[in-house]
Amino acid sequence: MTGGEATGGGVAGGDTDRRAYLTEHLDAVRSRLLDACRAADRDPSGVTLLPVTKFFPASDVAILRDLGCREFGESREQDAAPKVTALREAPGDDVRWHMIGHLQRNKARAVAQWAYAVHSVDSLRLVDALQRGVDRAREDGVRDTDLEVYVQVSLDGDTHRGGVDRGELDAVADAVAQASGLTLAGLMAVPPLESDPDAAFADLAGLHQWLLRSHPSATGLSAGMTGDLEEAVRHGSTCVRVGTAILGPRPVTSP
Ligand SMILES: *Cc1c(COP(=O)(O)O)cnc(C)c1O
Repeated sequence: MTGGEATGGGVAGGDTDRRAYLTEHLDAVRSRLLDACRAADRDPSGVTLLPVTKFFPASDVAILRDLGCREFGESREQDAAPKVTALREAPGDDVRWHMIGHLQRNKARAVAQWAYAVHSVDSLRLVDALQRGVDRAREDGVRDTDLEVYVQVSLDGDTHRGGVDRGELDAVADAVAQASGLTLAGLMAVPPLESDPDAAFADLAGLHQWLLRSHPSATGLSAGMTGDLEEAVRHGSTCVRVGTAILGPRPVTSP
């Protein structure tokens, strides 16, 4: 099957089971998030739950939209674009899409057409490509807002797994802040493999405090996934990106 066959959300047959599954798991994650906010003495309205729908069909996104979700995370342009199109045809075109996965420069132009935000910006060249993509999308009349950009930082300096080294964070953040059409939203990170998430997010929070001194409006902190959202909330996350706990195990593993 091709992505183009994804539908905007007709409910038929086995979809009833899927709806029940998603309802139950979304509720559980929402309660987890509330508990995490309570434990951290934080206002729950300060943390967005971003369901990560990568590798799942547009029909799942449509169900989650019915259940009140309005923001979704995707990690590959080719996989996301058909879902964006399918949801646009659904009533009330009010969904925001977040690109959270590694982004190649040659996909920047396409992503600039549908993404509200990109969480994975980790090079000056990508900043440049996104700026041009947004300019182009504006000229084509397919976007009228700035692109919200989170700079992804590599906490262990192993930049093969994505993220800028902390030594280059300043330069990339400044470039985003100066680029027309891009707004510096804040920072994003994924804890290094085998690391203690609590220590990793404490480190990230320190980098965020440091960034806020030069960019006071970059208040966003995209941190926390299925396995570590509590630790992320404790250290100031404003957006948790949750896939597995809501949608179940992914049908295909990420490259
Ligand atoms: C897939 C993905 C997630 C979601 O991970 P889960 O462990 O399934 O919640 C979050 N962030 C990024 C960058 C991802 O690629």
